Amino acid sequence: MPYGDEKKGAAMTESTRPSFRDNVNLMFTRAAALMDLSPGFEEKIRVCNATYIVRFGVPLRGEIRTFTGYRSVHSEHIEPVKGGIRFASNVHQEEVEALSALMSYKCALAGVPFGGSKGGLRIDPTLYNEDELEQITRRFARELAKRDLIHPAQNVGAPDMGTSAREMAWIADQYARMNPTEINAHACVTGKPLNGGGIAGRVEATGRGVQYALREFFRHESDVARAGLSGGLDGKRIILQGLGKVGYHAGKFLSQEDGARVVALIERDGALSHAEGLDIDAVQEWMQQHGGLSGFPGAEFHPDGAGMLEEDCDILIPAAVEGVIHKGNAARIRAPLIIEAANGPVTAAADEILRGKGVVIIPDMYANAGGVTVSYFEWVKNLSRIRFGRMERLHEANRHQLLVDELLRLAEKSGLDWSFSPDFIRSYLNGADELALVRSGLDDTMRGAYQAMRELWHGREDVPDLRTAGYMRAIGRIASSYRMRGGHL
Ligand code: GLU
Repeated sequence: MPYGDEKKGAAMTESTRPSFRDNVNLMFTRAAALMDLSPGFEEKIRVCNATYIVRFGVPLRGEIRTFTGYRSVHSEHIEPVKGGIRFASNVHQEEVEALSALMSYKCALAGVPFGGSKGGLRIDPTLYNEDELEQITRRFARELAKRDLIHPAQNVGAPDMGTSAREMAWIADQYARMNPTEINAHACVTGKPLNGGGIAGRVEATGRGVQYALREFFRHESDVARAGLSGGLDGKRIILQGLGKVGYHAGKFLSQEDGARVVALIERDGALSHAEGLDIDAVQEWMQQHGGLSGFPGAEFHPDGAGMLEEDCDILIPAAVEGVIHKGNAARIRAPLIIEAANGPVTAAADEILRGKGVVIIPDMYANAGGVTVSYFEWVKNLSRIRFGRMERLHEANRHQLLVDELLRLAEKSGLDWSFSPDFIRSYLNGADELALVRSGLDDTMRGAYQAMRELWHGREDVPDLRTAGYMRAIGRIASSYRMRGGHL
């Protein structure tokens, strides 16, 4: 079922214009126009280098079912290229190309050393059981691996809509079977399960990144004022669209850790509202049991989900699909601040309208960069074959070993009540706090990337918003990688 009037956005047919890819390109072009790029260079950076389309058959339920899959490589200014693999029934070439372009810009802005790629499989995963999904996924992985479109040094996949650690484990295993002498085989995808080469904190990463992005935004009083808001996150009223991995974690962390209130939540079957704030865990549990929001006790249910995007709130978080805020509803949006947890939720036309109204938008390429940032940590961990951060901890341990031994001995002898228990210190030195390291690395990345955008936003009068600033930063970094390569791009 669609998200309200998704027809006007995400579920656009390939003949509907402007497409998601056109929208990304329009935003790119607006930013590139403010830069001094040599002739032809803008086009080279903007266009998607290649899209591979594969159709393959899988024997299922007594017949051969044919599936269509895509893998786009937008920009190979740095390799490997990186990006998720989406399983959805309306995936199409333009969408995958738009998403792969956003991956290039996202990685460049976050300072994550990957080019951009994205994959998609046209499938409704709810129609298949786990065994069937495994067969289909492995077959798709084989097709991609045969052409190095899944490869630890060239093209690294990840979860996206409709996929999770489970699919990544199948893909990694498939690749490893096909390449038994490749010692880095498991680094061909990220977002793997923890016991299968994954990293702590990857599942929550994109939502966590949204939280860190908002925290960083609210640290800058003048930026908060530009949105017509004041104070911090505490007590802010949020309307959240989408309770998938990203929306769930963002909503949960912001409400449980920062005092914000999710006053409305939009899902496929409608919306829930509750002025005091919804209990995100309880709603998620309800959704899992009942397949939708309807009937959730203690909150009001509204069958018109999309209409809820237009309600009064402080922060609107679209965390579902692209194109949900478009020229048909942008003028009615009342939120003064939008953070794009989804990729491409605001079309280029809506972006203009919202800017005209003074709405501040924290753009997707920054707001949802948490996923790929932690994917990078996972990839580095896989290649180094050492627990993330352990190397640093070992150096530290060497330096402090004598001191710590002495302290532990004294503490145990004196029976002192330590605020850091000996167990904590031991686990710290053993690098057991991977999650804490991942989170602090993510926080650092989100802060740095925000400041890089902000500097341009505040520093140049012709830079109208954070999105343009984000594109300019990303384009500048991609351009300098390309320039180092000489003339053959
Ligand atoms: N699919 C996620 C995104 O759109 C994560 C990509 C990754 O980790 O490579 O950013």
